[in-house]
Amino acid sequence: MAERMLQFVRLSQAQPEKRDVAARRSDFGEIYREFAADAAAEQSSRCSQCGVPFCSVHCPLNNNIPDWLKLTAEGRLEEAYEVSAATNTFPEICGRICPQDRLCEGNCVIEKGFESVTIGAVEKYITDTAWEKGWVKPPTPRQELPWSVGIIGAGPGGLAAAEKLRLRGYQVHVYDRYDRVGGLMIYGIPNFKLEKEVVLRRWQQYEAGGIHFHLNCAVGQDVTLAELRERHDAVFIATGVYKARDIEGIGSGLGGIVAALDYLTASNRDNLGDAVPDFASGALNAQGKRVVVVGGGDTAMDCVRTAVRQGAAAVTCLYRRDKANMPGSMREVKNAEEEGVEFAWLAAPEAFVGDAGSAGGGEGQVSGVRAVRMHLGLPDATGRQQVAPIPGSAFTIPCDLAIKALGFDPEDLPRAFDEPALPVTRWGTLRVHHRTMMTDLPGVFAGGDIVRGASLVVWAIRDGRDAADQIDAYVKAKAGNKLAVAAE
Ligand code: SF4
Repeated sequence: MAERMLQFVRLSQAQPEKRDVAARRSDFGEIYREFAADAAAEQSSRCSQCGVPFCSVHCPLNNNIPDWLKLTAEGRLEEAYEVSAATNTFPEICGRICPQDRLCEGNCVIEKGFESVTIGAVEKYITDTAWEKGWVKPPTPRQELPWSVGIIGAGPGGLAAAEKLRLRGYQVHVYDRYDRVGGLMIYGIPNFKLEKEVVLRRWQQYEAGGIHFHLNCAVGQDVTLAELRERHDAVFIATGVYKARDIEGIGSGLGGIVAALDYLTASNRDNLGDAVPDFASGALNAQGKRVVVVGGGDTAMDCVRTAVRQGAAAVTCLYRRDKANMPGSMREVKNAEEEGVEFAWLAAPEAFVGDAGSAGGGEGQVSGVRAVRMHLGLPDATGRQQVAPIPGSAFTIPCDLAIKALGFDPEDLPRAFDEPALPVTRWGTLRVHHRTMMTDLPGVFAGGDIVRGASLVVWAIRDGRDAADQIDAYVKAKAGNKLAVAAE
């Protein structure tokens, strides 16, 4: 039944129901239930169909949100899916993991007096329905082109470029050092936010559409960048950033201090049924342990919530600023609090303490994190409030497992790829021309985190889609030039 729009005055915001906390803590299933069809239509009808839709303006993909909300309110779901998929390669994934409170929903106009439209949940509902009904098709082109493109990295940026190029008829080859497709979407993000079936079914579709995957293939070891440039008409680098930021200092060499991504990967692999020796041995398993996670971003939230599900005895998140200044999504912080995670706000690690006489020596096992209280000062040039330690405020949180979730830096790609001419910025990210997305190496493009620094999946999708357009223009212009020269 068609719904009228502008119903926000009459209808309150209702997110899909969350599963019971006790059930959430005991398994890795997604925590949100799906909207029922009526609820999705009803919630969509709350949209006021703004002339200048700030939701779209603040979406990195500029999704046509008011259009697909209206179509959903009218029960025209297949059209809603088409509109949604026209600008987004993975709407069902963005619907699950985007920090909507900082993007579309945080900028929804009705938020000023009412609660925002539940954009993320409707987006997920539309595309999950599309999968169920068989509307999501493999990227099969109408006509094949003779040109090929090599893509390094099977994460969201690489896959977004791969799909768009394949649809245009390119021969697309994706190279990835891991054994599965998806990058951080498969090994970084836990199941309770993104069930792996959602990623795996995309992989199947891409293979069915003729995209070639070369897995367990590390560029620089199994194949060189120079070889890929020989093999393909263009190359797109979308490796992401994987080098974990570290905490140096007293006790940092103790056992039981692990990097967030190693910890999350072990958990995800275990959930996928892989044999994971470090998980089986307990080294990367929080079961029965007191856990401290250092950091305040989404990766830190993924770690604390994974530890809860593994049966940790206690889980504490240590963050040097306060809750209002956390970089991660507030929704994830709230979910973590509901699931029993303790937060030590305004506290920064000073040292790891371990078995007597072992601290600093790299021996023995961690038994606590010594932290110091911080206070928030004046904002710096970036507008962010500075923090400073409060003298004499040190305290120790006991722990058996400390997880470092302080963010990621780029690897040294010119060295890893054995290509010194690959230009990098002073932060180690790849330098590209801002419009063409091409590096100084002709035909070598780059995008996503390896250019931006660690960022959101939705930005990687945006870059992948844009890069596909730039690669298409480059390859066709080059082919056109060759034809013109041949005709002269
Ligand atoms: Fe609808 Fe909110 Fe977007 Fe306006 S900002 S079009 S009310 S979803």
